[in-house]
Order: sequence, then C-alpha cells, then structure tokens
Amino acid sequence: MAVKLSGEELEFGALYGRRLAENLPRVRERIAEAAVKAGRAPASVRLVAVTKGHPVEAVRAALRAGLEDLGENRVEELEEKAAALGHEAVCWHMIGHLQRRWVPRALEVAQLVHSVDTLRLAERISRVAGESGTQARILAQVNTSGEGSKSGLDPEEALEQVGRMAELPNLKVEGLMTMAPLVDDEAVLSAAFRRLRATLERIKSGTALVGSELSMGMTNDLEIAVREGSTMVRIGTALFGERLR
Ligand SMILES: *Cc1c(COP(=O)(O)O)cnc(C)c1O
Repeated sequence: MAVKLSGEELEFGALYGRRLAENLPRVRERIAEAAVKAGRAPASVRLVAVTKGHPVEAVRAALRAGLEDLGENRVEELEEKAAALGHEAVCWHMIGHLQRRWVPRALEVAQLVHSVDTLRLAERISRVAGESGTQARILAQVNTSGEGSKSGLDPEEALEQVGRMAELPNLKVEGLMTMAPLVDDEAVLSAAFRRLRATLERIKSGTALVGSELSMGMTNDLEIAVREGSTMVRIGTALFGERLR
C-alpha cells in the first residue's frame, strides 16, 4: 500500500536521514574511542537515541539507520511516537521524570524506565505491572550532583531505598541512572559519574537483586561517562541536532 506523505514529512524524513548519516558514525566513534581508552569493549556501551523534541520522522530515520533503543522524557510524546510507528521493533526508554498517575500509560510503551526517583514511584510501578501480569524493568535515578533542581535519590539514602525497590514484586531493578550537573568542569562531571558507580557497587554488595546497568552520559559528557563505567549513554543533540520544541 502506498503511503501518502505530506511535503513536510518528506522534507523532515530527508533532513533527519542526512543528519544521522553524518552524526551517527561520529557518535559511535566517540563511544568506541572512549571505551577503548578505558580498556572496555565498545559494545559494552548501549546507545539510547533520545528523540524528544523531534518529530516522528526523526524516529523513523533513526530506525532506518539501525538504532533500536529510543528514549523519550514525556509520556504523551512517547505514546504519540509509538502510535505513529505502529509495531516496528523499537525498545522504548522512558528517561524523564515520571509522575505516579502516568505509570500505567508509561508501562504500556516503555520497556525500561530510567527515572525511578522515589520508593513510592517504584511501588506504583510494581503494582501496575502486577495488575497486567508483567515484570517492569527499571533503573533507580540518583542525584549525584547535589543540585536541588535535579530529581533522584540521595546517594546516601539510595543504599536502603534501592534495596527496598529490588524487593518489590513484578519489578526488576537493572541498575542506576543519573544526570550530571550542567557544567563543563571535567573533574565535577567525573566525580558525579564515579559517585553513581560507587553507589551501585555498595548496593550490589548488599543484595543480589540489583543489576549492573549504569545509565549515564549525554551529548556533552559521554566520553567522561564511558570512562567512569557507563553501560548506557542517552544521546539526543549529537544525533538529531537542536530540539525543535
Ligand atoms: C534530553 C535528555 C538527554 C539527551 O540530552 P542531549 O544533551 O541532547 O544528548 C539525556 N537524558 C535525559 C534524561 C534527557 O532528558
């Protein structure tokens, strides 16, 4: 069946296709180089392409370019894009702050929720997953920068809180996520990422129920994150350009 595309869709499709042809090899190269420098296998770092703020044509272009892990930070935008794509094989990541009332809708689409920042939210996710007979996969978000504007568990409290999250039924804590402070100072960024890794190590020494994923690193700090042990980088701007909204 021929699908009729509007002029704008064709234009966006071509634009994002060109951008990715140029940007994706660069991003993969940045990841690989940082991994090799740190004595790690490039394949040990998963690339989550953050499509928020870009139209659905960007998502289609990403899939055509071979990207499989896509991230959104708002439930409505996540639903909108997932609906437009239909049943194409995508692993959706919910990376933004999630309110408890949005949990059922988020879990309909997202296969991994990176941003579980309170025990109450984890409890809600556990309950909703249980109601649909599924197991939710989550990461616990930790505030490693001490910035009041950032959500996330306090690193000191994470030990106990994440331990309790991991005990909940219908939910698997696969690791931790953090957002670094918005600064250029490499020492500050390194310290934040190192704090996340150290927090995970402490948690894992107390429970076997928590996985080893470290979701950290964005466009401006991915090399530092990979050096400090990131297993998942969340990249938007370096792949798709400046966001449109
Ligand atoms: C927007 C966003 C990203 C991607 O940021 P870029 O700087 O564009 O790579 C990563 N993680 C989260 C949680 C985001 O909201």
